[in-house]
Amino acid sequence: MYADLHLHTNFSDGTYTPEELSGHGKRVGLKVMSLTDHDTIDGCARMAVACAELDIEFISGCEFTVELDGFELHLLGYFLDLENTRLLSELAKYQEVRRNRIHEMVAKLNGLGIAITSENVMRIANCDAPGRPHIGRALVELGHCRNLDESFQKWLKKGKPAWVPKAKLSAGEAINLIHDADGLAVLAHPGLYHRDEVIPPLVELGMDGLECLYTRHSTPMTEHYLMLTEQYSLLVTGGSDCHGENKGKPLIGAVKVPVSFIEKMKSAVAV
Ligand code: AMP
Ligand code: ZN
Ligand code: FE
Ligand code: FE
Repeated sequence: MYADLHLHTNFSDGTYTPEELSGHGKRVGLKVMSLTDHDTIDGCARMAVACAELDIEFISGCEFTVELDGFELHLLGYFLDLENTRLLSELAKYQEVRRNRIHEMVAKLNGLGIAITSENVMRIANCDAPGRPHIGRALVELGHCRNLDESFQKWLKKGKPAWVPKAKLSAGEAINLIHDADGLAVLAHPGLYHRDEVIPPLVELGMDGLECLYTRHSTPMTEHYLMLTEQYSLLVTGGSDCHGENKGKPLIGAVKVPVSFIEKMKSAVAV
């Protein structure tokens, strides 16, 4: 009985529709799924219906792009009230930031002599929360590079010539927003930052959990973060971060989260 609590669809930079994603979840035997698209909850309503049809429990979610001390972190929100107006208006603001950033990055690429338009990117993105993977896919489609990874290495990664910084919610604002929407705030993929010093201030700000189980966490890393959840009395979550077929074979279900963890999360929501 397993869950996967970190998944993306084409409402942000994943390639599957909610219906396709839930279908893959069923195929790999998932009992519980959460959808955590970047800075949007717009796919959650369709995902809820698709999961219900397949007898999969659905938990609403979102992966918020936030900053703490000038550093970008991803915070997962779970059990969010999808009708919360403050949440919806804040997300709309950051989706606009994402759309504007596409124009700015395309302008930088043009400045480098690369023929690409925002329309090329937005046709591929076809959503309100576009991101760098959509620019990368457009660059591949237009023949400017061979694959997504090459587009990041050459142009899109932080510090590369087409990179543009992105305005973000502060971690404190995001945690408040998640709690205001009756949700739980969890630090996504802590092992990817190499900055454990962010954890005590996040705990101080009211963060509820750590995503200990994660595709790119080694076993010692997972054990380390499990130990920190004990130390700070935090919840344990996990997920694959499947983006569909962006990055080779689908990762969905690759991280097996026992459903007993979900019960602990529900008890924390109820408090
Ligand atoms: P953005 O939200 O526009 O800042 O883009 C960040 C997203 O790009 C991440 O959430 C990943 O899904 C994706 N990403 C980051 N690095 C790479 C890479 N080297 N190759 C492919 N996708 C990447
Ligand atoms: Zn992503
Ligand atoms: Fe992330
Ligand atoms: Fe993610």
